[in-house]
Amino acid sequence: MRRISILGATGSIGQNTLDLIRRARGDYDVVALTGGRNIAQLAADAREFGVEVAVTAHEDALPDLRAALDGTGVEAAAGAAALIEAASRPADWTMSAIVGHAGLAPGMAALREGATLALANKESLVTAGPLLLATAKARGARILPVDSEHSAVFQALVGEDIAEAERVIITASGGAFRDWPLEDLPGATVSQASSHPNWDMGQRITIDSASMFNKALELIETKEFFGFTPRQIEVLIHPQSLVHALVGFRDGALMAHIGPPDMRHAIGYALHWPTRRDLPVERLDLAAIGSLEFRAPDLRRYPALGLAQEVMQAGGHAGAVFNAAKERALDHFIAGRTGFTEMTAHVTEAMQAMAPHAEAMGDITLETVAEVDHLTRKQMDAQIRSRA
Ligand code: NDP
Ligand code: MG
Repeated sequence: MRRISILGATGSIGQNTLDLIRRARGDYDVVALTGGRNIAQLAADAREFGVEVAVTAHEDALPDLRAALDGTGVEAAAGAAALIEAASRPADWTMSAIVGHAGLAPGMAALREGATLALANKESLVTAGPLLLATAKARGARILPVDSEHSAVFQALVGEDIAEAERVIITASGGAFRDWPLEDLPGATVSQASSHPNWDMGQRITIDSASMFNKALELIETKEFFGFTPRQIEVLIHPQSLVHALVGFRDGALMAHIGPPDMRHAIGYALHWPTRRDLPVERLDLAAIGSLEFRAPDLRRYPALGLAQEVMQAGGHAGAVFNAAKERALDHFIAGRTGFTEMTAHVTEAMQAMAPHAEAMGDITLETVAEVDHLTRKQMDAQIRSRA
């Protein structure tokens, strides 16, 4: 029996992970599940899988969680320290699927215990890539990418020498506003930005797909995880979301990963790695699909891609600044305090204001990343207030 924990179990990735586990119940012993506000889901899953411990991130939600788990024998806990404690319990495989910066410390705790970390939380690599890789190495832990593009790159590299890869192309659907006239983008609403043409995901990553802040994170993630240089990493618009990434080798060959837009593929690959098992995903009929469409991204529509290049060049804490700035700008957009296209202007301004602080912060540790994150959010809030 493999011991499994899922951080962010109530979210889109967490639920897809549980869907796969549910299909082979006898193979897995689910140790810990964590969630946030969705106590009903967390309690229902904790009961169903008979877990050791269920944790909500929010202390004020603990009474509800306790009540929902009464009589089940499942421990209930809440708060940041409880998340770390749950993530530290011995497990063979841990899914890191909390959204945002909040996912970093719990994922690190699992790595420190030597678990295989299936990493969906891209913010961890963006803000603390070197720390994550060094911890995994020191503790004999393994990180397996779950973001679909990175799973695709990982799969395209199986059996290859990465030193012979000369470029990586990650694809982007183009998001909700791919075909909108540019002049309409400033008026885009939260609900318009929250619908994705191909993927069914959490709200925040869906809006980040429309702005391509998501793709910007993925460029940085590619650099951090695989060690490619910024120049080697490209983005290609591919409206159908069937080709997830391509790796180009020194002999001119391109290895493409093609599959349906269903996160259970990448999650299942990480779950069963290094083997492949049956997965309940659609089988593509390429003759029915007929053709695959690609085009270059327009930086006027997706200025976040330009910012990603700056972050990759700068290195150090620039990723933590960028991530915090875009997370906070998104909070303000969702709350109606700033416009869709204004998010990039705000992130650019915050990056400039924060650059000297980020540089002075020194080595990447959980503490320095948390400090940079905190200062950047304050900076963003001040910017939003001054424009109000
Ligand atoms: P969701 O918003 O659907 O789920 C997020 C999870 O994190 C939920 O369990 C949520 O709890 C929990 N959570 C929210 N805030 C906190 C917090 N402050 N502390 C602890 N837990 C918290 O996100 P997704 O599943 O879409 O994404 C998860 C991660 O995976 C993100 O980093 C995303 O970028 C990445 N990813 C997602 C993909 C997708 O297809 N969805 C694809 C590739 C990467 P609750 O809902 O109970 O409040
Ligand atoms: Mg992705």
